[in-house]
Amino acid sequence: MNDKYKKYKQLIELATNLSVAKELTKEATAGYAGTALLASNGEIYTGKSLTGICSIAFCGEVGAVLSMLKDGISEIEAIVTVSNDRKLMPPCGRCREMMYQVDRKNLKTKLLLENGRVVTLNDLFPERAQELWETLQEDSS
Ligand SMILES: [Zn+2]
Repeated sequence: MNDKYKKYKQLIELATNLSVAKELTKEATAGYAGTALLASNGEIYTGKSLTGICSIAFCGEVGAVLSMLKDGISEIEAIVTVSNDRKLMPPCGRCREMMYQVDRKNLKTKLLLENGRVVTLNDLFPERAQELWETLQEDSS
């Protein structure tokens, strides 16, 4: 088993262990999904989802990315999110945008999916508004 495979297996195990839904109040539940990421500094950061009323919803990716950012790191090598039914989930559109906004190098981030599939953020986020804005600004100058 090579080191990269061992790290990915560790990420999946951590995310799975965090993916345990716990009702905090009548309104809020934590842990419909758990996330683990391997950052460019070699450290692993984790998070879990928080869902409530009044449109309160934070994916597991948000918690893991914020945990990484507090250490001054923004580049993600690999990330995985596991749902309560033990499925490896691709990040939602907002989280794809978030990972791109915190560090452009995250287009190379490996996303671990079902059946051993590994894709990059760029594969799942090929059209980016920022690049259109940059083109429009260049055209107007
Ligand atoms: Zn999300």
